[in-house]
Amino acid sequence: MTLDYHMHTPLCKHAVGAPEDYVRRALDIGLSEIGMSDHMPMPGWYDPNFRMRRDQFDEYIAMVEDVQSRFGDRLPIRLGLEGDYFPGTEGFVRDILWRADFDYVIGSVHYLGDWAFDNPEYTAQYEGKDVAQIYREYFDMVKGAARSGLFDIVGHPDVIKKFGHRPAGPIDDLLEDALAAVKRAGMALEVNTSGLRYPCREIYPSRRMLEIARALDVPVTLGSDAHKPEQVGLGFDEAKALLREVGYTHVVRYVKREPEPVPIL
Ligand code: ZN
Ligand code: FE
Ligand code: FE
Ligand code: ZN
Repeated sequence: MTLDYHMHTPLCKHAVGAPEDYVRRALDIGLSEIGMSDHMPMPGWYDPNFRMRRDQFDEYIAMVEDVQSRFGDRLPIRLGLEGDYFPGTEGFVRDILWRADFDYVIGSVHYLGDWAFDNPEYTAQYEGKDVAQIYREYFDMVKGAARSGLFDIVGHPDVIKKFGHRPAGPIDDLLEDALAAVKRAGMALEVNTSGLRYPCREIYPSRRMLEIARALDVPVTLGSDAHKPEQVGLGFDEAKALLREVGYTHVVRYVKREPEPVPIL
């Protein structure tokens, strides 16, 4: 089956299209299962312009339940969330996650300190930085996300490459270390095609990272990170080809935060 577990709603202030439009697109292109995963509420000081407000959380759940009730007989629609890992916010995040019966929660790293490194508005801050050092800091955060025990899936696993900043040499040690933590946490890795739309021009994660994940038997999900309906399932032929080349035959689906492997079709 082909599932897309990463799509947004207008509640996050930087996505367009009602959930119904994402669902219709998924039906049009023949996906077998989808999940909505909008950016979760966070404490007021954290990135307020790119996520739902806390008082919109119930509205988000209701939006997903609405499409589940109207389209669920044609397309399984999971209740997901894109969570943020940021040290110090774990208690807040845990409290939010208790408030609904999620099928899965993605754990994404969007900040290094106060720097929103994946936001196009702040790419100037890459200048003068040691790329190897920011990669180390990024993958330390991924390890933190894994150790937090809050999340099921690592979102866009090497998004630090988004704007094309590449370390000079191999980073297998960083990848192995981070993926060992992901494995210990029992999490899956998201194969996220949105990188194809950005200057790195590459799926997250890289082929190398996916090879190491395969060797460690870390399961994978698929996500387009759609912020508009026409992005649903975008790049999935490439993603599925990459998965097969690396030796993956299955992705995992989630129901009530329980993973179940299903063949890639
Ligand atoms: Zn977003
Ligand atoms: Fe993200
Ligand atoms: Fe996203
Ligand atoms: Zn995202």
